[in-house]
Amino acid sequence: MPSSRVLYWFRTDLRISDSPALCASLSLGDIEAFYPVWCWDPSYIYGHRVGLNRWSFLLESMISLSSELTRLNREQKLLVVRSKPQEILPVLWKEWGITHVVWEKDSNAYSKIRDEEIIRLANINGVQVVCVHGRHLYDPEKVGEGYGNKPTLTLHAWQTVTSKMGKVPKPSPTPTTLPDPGITTLPQAKDKFKWEGLDMNSHIRTGHDTCYDHILGPNHDFSIPTMSQMGYSSSTTSIRGGTIQAHQCLSNFLRDPRKVATFSKPASSPTSLEPSTTLLSPYLKFGCVGVREVWWGCKDVIETYTGGGITKEPENMFGQLQFRDMYASAEAATRHFERIRGNHVSRYIDWGLQNQYDPSGHEILPRPRGDLVDEERFEAWKEGRTGFPWIDACMRQLKYEGWIHHLARHSVACYLTRGQCYISWERGMEVFDEWLIDWDPASNPGNWMWLSCSAFFSQYYRVYGLVSWPQKTDKTGQLVRKYCPELKGFPDKYIYAPHLAPESVQRQANCIIGIDYPSPSLDERTEKDRCIARLKNAFALNLHGDAAEVLDGTAAGM
Ligand code: FAD
Repeated sequence: MPSSRVLYWFRTDLRISDSPALCASLSLGDIEAFYPVWCWDPSYIYGHRVGLNRWSFLLESMISLSSELTRLNREQKLLVVRSKPQEILPVLWKEWGITHVVWEKDSNAYSKIRDEEIIRLANINGVQVVCVHGRHLYDPEKVGEGYGNKPTLTLHAWQTVTSKMGKVPKPSPTPTTLPDPGITTLPQAKDKFKWEGLDMNSHIRTGHDTCYDHILGPNHDFSIPTMSQMGYSSSTTSIRGGTIQAHQCLSNFLRDPRKVATFSKPASSPTSLEPSTTLLSPYLKFGCVGVREVWWGCKDVIETYTGGGITKEPENMFGQLQFRDMYASAEAATRHFERIRGNHVSRYIDWGLQNQYDPSGHEILPRPRGDLVDEERFEAWKEGRTGFPWIDACMRQLKYEGWIHHLARHSVACYLTRGQCYISWERGMEVFDEWLIDWDPASNPGNWMWLSCSAFFSQYYRVYGLVSWPQKTDKTGQLVRKYCPELKGFPDKYIYAPHLAPESVQRQANCIIGIDYPSPSLDERTEKDRCIARLKNAFALNLHGDAAEVLDGTAAGM
């Protein structure tokens, strides 16, 4: 058997445990050289909304992965190249004599287009591609195929398809050694960068004699960039990245069998200071822990649990992981899942800030980004100064920590869209895109569509109370006191509605509403009623995002 030279391309799988793709790469036979590579894609870095907390979490996770690789082989580390994979990978293949390129499959729209291009380039360069599923419980594309290439818009649909796909596979074994790396030198002159199928000159920046100044890092050593090298200030989050941290987080949860067996998402508290759910989402996002490790970890614990009150799907832990998969499968089967236009699963609602459907003229009327009231409401929501302490505390926590509880996400998303502000879910999603550490291209738009009753969920008359809802789990307002410290002097009675406090109470709390903390930016009840009426109309019209595209002639082929 001829020996192989393997380039393992790490992306959103920053771990060595439960990695079917890594295992596949190591079973390629006689491996002469093994290169673990990460590509910093400038188009992703500069073209994407990524907040400081996600950047720092990612860098920490890369450092953690690199030390795991070194632990397996002292000669190994994560080789970071700062360039577009479509441009740099063919160069590395050629220079390092790569025979196989291996990665974990990612079925989201962006990755799919990028990966198809890499496959094309690999074919031209005679490199074999090994692409292995491992990011979800089941391959989202296969689930879509099993559902007639339609998106799974209910958990039941997803469960029906996957019930025919066998059990969730057991976690893959963690490798105990890694083969040696080969030489890691690269050519010096830029004319060497002309390979079949691509033109490297297009990406060489002016002012660089060679490409490597920016490709290999300041010391030409494939190093992981620091926040300051990237021109960023420090992050604010207390959530630390890394595969060690991910596994600690998982074992902390699994340590308490009762907690695992009786986990119920609706019963968890969005108002507590300590997360009342697992906080695994950032780790699952970057693949610092394998989803099958989480699944089987819970299964094993529950099997030996002898107490009562075992919860069922969808409220239990398995249901949570299934929701993640359901969105991934829906995204894989839907064009433009991340926006309204051209998205056939998203209901077309005449949101204030979106293009508007005019039923009489059958036209889509482009509207400005929003009238003043809309824009002011949006900014107030984003910056946590709506005058509703519960919403403000959640938004400030999101910006500061890069994570908030699921039901807090429900509250702020409902408020912005169909609850009170009547602003498009796309705009809220964009803020989450930037600030969430766990941002996921399927779960984020999917949940925004759910909360805005654009897809997945349709009970638009069920709106979260801005005062009554947080009071259900905490009458003392501890989260508000932490993230809106200007309100901390208010008694419990007024903590979620300080504008109702008499002036004497406001003075005693050292916080005058309208001066030290904003007055409510809208009337909760009036806006709620208006929203419900508008949603009722939208449901009667029953238009979807693909109708918008057809009506203004931008559909493919028109
Ligand atoms: P746990 O309750 O402990 O659940 C365990 C895991 O199950 C999570 O880590 C997550 O991977 C998965 N999960 C649970 N609920 C959901 C769900 N509704 N959708 C998808 N996966 C789920 N989750 C993301 O991972 N990325 C996102 O970008 C994202 N955006 C969201 C936007 C909105 C508007 C809303 C309402 C929810 C969003 N969620 C997103 C889902 C959910 O809020 C988070 O996954 C969850 O709060 C993460 O905390 P946890 O790990 O403690 O969750």
